[in-house]
Amino acid sequence: MDKKIGFIGLGIMGMPMARNLLNAGFELSVWNRTPSKMDELAKAGAMTGRSAAVVAEWGDVTITMLTDSAAVEEVMVDSYNSVLAGARPDSVVIDMSTISPSVTRSIAGKLSEKGVHMLDAPVSGSLPGATSGTLSIMVGGELEVFERCRPVFEAMGRQITHCGGNGMGQVTKLANQIIGLGNLAAMCEGIVFAAKAGGDPDALLKAFGAGAANSWMVENLGRKVFDGDFAPGFMVDLAQKDLRLVQEAAAEMDMPLITTPLVSQMLRAVQRADSGSEGIQAYVKALEGLAGIEARTTEPG
Ligand code: NAP
Repeated sequence: MDKKIGFIGLGIMGMPMARNLLNAGFELSVWNRTPSKMDELAKAGAMTGRSAAVVAEWGDVTITMLTDSAAVEEVMVDSYNSVLAGARPDSVVIDMSTISPSVTRSIAGKLSEKGVHMLDAPVSGSLPGATSGTLSIMVGGELEVFERCRPVFEAMGRQITHCGGNGMGQVTKLANQIIGLGNLAAMCEGIVFAAKAGGDPDALLKAFGAGAANSWMVENLGRKVFDGDFAPGFMVDLAQKDLRLVQEAAAEMDMPLITTPLVSQMLRAVQRADSGSEGIQAYVKALEGLAGIEARTTEPG
């Protein structure tokens, strides 16, 4: 079994995912662009590498968890100390970031020229899922390579789904974002609507949670909207990046989209109001502006 895991990108998601691998007994070597973020895992028993190439050369499996397509391309293939420069033939590279399906396929092609296997394995479940090791992981790539990496995925996620060849993990994740962020938009509209009419937050959340309106968004972010807690689990800027990827991929397929552009424009309004680095629940602020009411300060009527 592959025991040596290189992990690159210790952001909001990468840090708890790497910690879960360590807790599951894998040997871990990490690299992060901002070196101070490696200290916590080094104290917990991980090794730290000098570059992405060094970590990839050491690992049987190398995982990346980075911001966007540009960051993944730079770290994987474009930079002097890239994963491609270090990775050994027959090792596996798993990109768990959310990026473009076509960029994913291009990176997989470059890695395969060196005999390195690649899986795209974006995740859903945000910070709570990353922390508790219960992410939904959507995997694209060869089935055999997927099965070889199953124990690695099981240390970080609960639902591990093989979705097809390279890029199909990303396609599944983007479809997931259309649904999830559309759901966020609907939840915030329902909350502002009820708040404007004087609804009681506790009663509303109890009722939504027990009926057809329930969702991950209601369960995880509904209370935060009422509490005015906008700390990021999943940042507005990253959600906007995902919706841009959705729109680009739809354009490549000549497919019109209806809900996604609308949600994206609302998120742009949130970004313009300096809330881009807040959690996606800050979506409610744009609606509150239109409705002339703050859901979080409403007294039960
Ligand atoms: P984050 O906290 O902003 O972390 C981004 C990581 O990428 C950091 O380690 C950052 O390094 C690194 N990075 C960015 N550009 C780089 C570059 N050019 N070279 C090297 N390293 C670079 O983001 P996150 O929330 O963990 O999200 C990571 C990925 O998971 C994104 O694709 C996101 O869409 C996806 N995702 C996030 C969530 C969520 O709820 N947060 C849920 C599902 C999926 P520094 O520390 O040096 O900045």
